[in-house]
Amino acid sequence: VDVALPVPVDKVFTYKVPSGLAGRVVPGCRVLVPFGNRRMTGYVVGLRNKAPGRVRLKAVAAVVDDEPLLGKSLLDLARWMSEYYVHPVGEVLRAILPASLKGKGRLPPEDETAGKFPKEIEFPVLNRDQTIALGAVTEALSSRRFERFLVHGVTGSGKTEVYLRCIGEVLRMGGSALVLVPEIALIPQTTTRFRRRFGREVAVLHSRLTGAQRFSIWKGAARGDIRVVIGARSAVFVPLRGLGIIVVDEEQDASFKQKEKPHYDAVAVADFRARSERAVLLLGSATPALETYESSRKGDIRSLRLYSRPAAGRMPPVEIVDMRGKQEIFSEELLDAVEAVIKKGEQAIILLNRRGHANYVQCRKCGWIEICPNCSISLTYHSRGLKLICHYCGYERRPPDFCPACGAYKVIHRGVGTQRIEMELGNLVVGARLARMDLDTTSGKRGHLEILWKFSRGETDILLGTQMVAKGHHYPNVTLVGVLSADWGLNFPDFRAAERTFRLLSQAAGRTGRGEKEGRVIIQTYAPDHYIFAYLVNHDYEGFAKKELALRSELRYPPSGRLTLFTVSSGSAENARRGGEEVRGKLDDLFAAKGIDVLGPTPALIERLRGKHRVQVLVKGNLDAGEKKKMVGAARKAVSGLGRIDLQWDVDPVDLS
Ligand code: ADP
Ligand code: ZN
Ligand code: ZN
Repeated sequence: VDVALPVPVDKVFTYKVPSGLAGRVVPGCRVLVPFGNRRMTGYVVGLRNKAPGRVRLKAVAAVVDDEPLLGKSLLDLARWMSEYYVHPVGEVLRAILPASLKGKGRLPPEDETAGKFPKEIEFPVLNRDQTIALGAVTEALSSRRFERFLVHGVTGSGKTEVYLRCIGEVLRMGGSALVLVPEIALIPQTTTRFRRRFGREVAVLHSRLTGAQRFSIWKGAARGDIRVVIGARSAVFVPLRGLGIIVVDEEQDASFKQKEKPHYDAVAVADFRARSERAVLLLGSATPALETYESSRKGDIRSLRLYSRPAAGRMPPVEIVDMRGKQEIFSEELLDAVEAVIKKGEQAIILLNRRGHANYVQCRKCGWIEICPNCSISLTYHSRGLKLICHYCGYERRPPDFCPACGAYKVIHRGVGTQRIEMELGNLVVGARLARMDLDTTSGKRGHLEILWKFSRGETDILLGTQMVAKGHHYPNVTLVGVLSADWGLNFPDFRAAERTFRLLSQAAGRTGRGEKEGRVIIQTYAPDHYIFAYLVNHDYEGFAKKELALRSELRYPPSGRLTLFTVSSGSAENARRGGEEVRGKLDDLFAAKGIDVLGPTPALIERLRGKHRVQVLVKGNLDAGEKKKMVGAARKAVSGLGRIDLQWDVDPVDLS
């Protein structure tokens, strides 16, 4: 038998099966095998009739599972992931399987309370767009073919209702359904809705489950007792029997991409699974990832638009406030609006559009900011050495004293903390009850829920915070959303900065105007002429997406070109730097004259992490599986002689920091 072992060697190992175990060692089972001078648990991935070559094989020591843990489709999936993300099958399997594989766990207690929810029997009458969407999906389901759909509609347009109906159809046909939601959305509101509709057949894989509980959900799903599974990224592997549909809500969410080895993207994995199990893939979003939108334009995904909001509420007007030449953090427009809201006893959300780590310099007078001439991303300011550096390609220059655009002596670097803003707002709007939500105030998921809970009960008036506040829930009393320095996000050194900012601001705008009351959105910016604002004001995702895709294709960023990000890290700065150079050199040799760009080495945006120095090399180009394998092989070889060094590779990276 061929056995995959969780070791960083890209091959499977062949063992012979002693006659006592004959027939029990089948693909998908775990076995105990001798490896070096110890024993290891591995996964049987194939059977053979005879040994390869004339080597003397070691024998399997024991079989762990009576029944295969992995069916054919998950084994196929593991092989595909191994090829696509360039990691050994054994390591991929370790990521796929629940951490605990002991079958004694009970089902999580939540499932015992499932009966508590009165089962819904009356559903809303679908509107026209929803009816068309359901019809299209049902047709694909009943002919049992693989097809991809994108349900594209703003928050509140009725996407979840469409998911529920489609899943209802699947269950009626005797199949099962998988629902993936972003980590942040794993909150009772969503899951309660599914439980009310489908009762005991629903299982929720959430982060507070023990390993044994997770495993029992796996087994229940494989047996066919559980027919609807809801969960975050790793739920994509649950081996549901008779899988009919995979729903991915908020498909653009970055949490679907795993940040550690093997760096898989759950949406891509869902796509592979749906294809190989002939299921429907249903993605949903208000602002789809540009990759997804491009696929829908090419016809690879069928777009189902939901235009209207069945629930009350209109899209709020969006106002842009030009901050150029102003010294203060809060514009008069925004302060007036906040005061008016407080006076009326309504609520406001203030969003600090900031992602950590990045510092940049900007002209206060005209909004100028230095961009890398090769990569079109903003240069990052390094106070050590007083340099501006592009963290994709390594281009660097000295920060100017005078603004090169307008000549003003007003070039400053940015990085105002949320605490200072909270203080300032407290002084300006007297009597308002403020709640600040950012990584400092939300240790753990509980802290975050606590703050939102208080706000939803009206115990606080103004919710102030980073991205997290944009994704909250339905607050009918919120009539104002203010955004401070939209530029912080726009100038983040990442080619997806505009896309993310557009999405965040659209989401933030969607936080208001959701009740009976009119809403209002005020966005402050030092770059009012940036193209995203015209689209934001018109709530025009499509216009934005077309413009952005054209820019991406010029520089061959995804979806026009694929990326692989190599990160070399080491306790020694010198080693990390040398590692980066070696990798760059070897990849240059490999790709010479092939139309593939190798960029770097350059300090990573997060230059030091847990005491390690980090250096990156970025590869831009469309590589097939064979080329990717050679590339990773060459990079590993490049650092192999350098002592203590860690090399990571991320295929299709989402976070380039
Ligand atoms: P989304 O998932 O796009 O945010 P939902 O499906 O949650 O939208 O719908 C928003 C609200 O509108 C929910 O309270 C839902 O019950 C309700 N709703 C959805 N579809 C309809 C419909 N056809 N008629 C009436 N109410 C609906
Ligand atoms: Zn200037
Ligand atoms: Zn660059």
